[in-house]
Amino acid sequence: MTVIPRLRPGTRLCIATHNAGKLTEFRELFAPFGLDLVSAGELGLPEPEETGTTFAQNARTKAHAAASGANMLALSDDSGLCVDALGGDPGVYTADWAGVPRDFNRAMKRVEDALQAAGANTPGQRRASFNATLCLAHPDGRDVLYVGRCDGTLIWPPRGEMGHGYDPMFMPDGHDITFGEMAAETKHSWSPGQQGLSHRARAFAQFVENQIDHA
Ligand code: IMP
Repeated sequence: MTVIPRLRPGTRLCIATHNAGKLTEFRELFAPFGLDLVSAGELGLPEPEETGTTFAQNARTKAHAAASGANMLALSDDSGLCVDALGGDPGVYTADWAGVPRDFNRAMKRVEDALQAAGANTPGQRRASFNATLCLAHPDGRDVLYVGRCDGTLIWPPRGEMGHGYDPMFMPDGHDITFGEMAAETKHSWSPGQQGLSHRARAFAQFVENQIDHA
């Protein structure tokens, strides 16, 4: 496996995103570690085109663009919603389903319309997962990937004002509220040795274990 030196308090790290919701989640996840975070958006770096057909390809594209553009370590996340009854769609096109400018009410309605068209009405027919692939890239081209997944059921109508994106229609297994109704600490919380709940928290837990030196 590629070896990138472990990060310590004070290490500068570029969060390779222009998405405010993701950045907020990353700042919350990183809060205990004392790293010096800056986002690609804050640095004014151009947003690379995501032309990959897998989360891993797109995560690599974003992390390497930020690492070389900022000349520092960069961490990206490529994530999305995969719906069983839709053959894994929207998958890597999850953001695209929200159109331009992004409208996630429209995106959720599109998922719901597709589920209706597929005759998916029972909870068992409405299974889905959120998936996240994190890529830590070094400006010299080395990188390492961490993957996380959270399974659940899609509900309609959407519920809750918290979170972002498709959160209000996703009910994670083991809970009777949606991500949109869940406090951020519940959605992302993790502690050493625990896997966390959200796809991003689960990938992040592995990233922390392997890449961060902390007390
Ligand atoms: P990306 O920026 O290309 O990785 O797009 C990810 C898409 O998945 C965005 O549209 C997000 O809104 C959506 N997404 C990823 N993670 C979550 C989540 O935790 N909750 C809701 N939507 C998410």
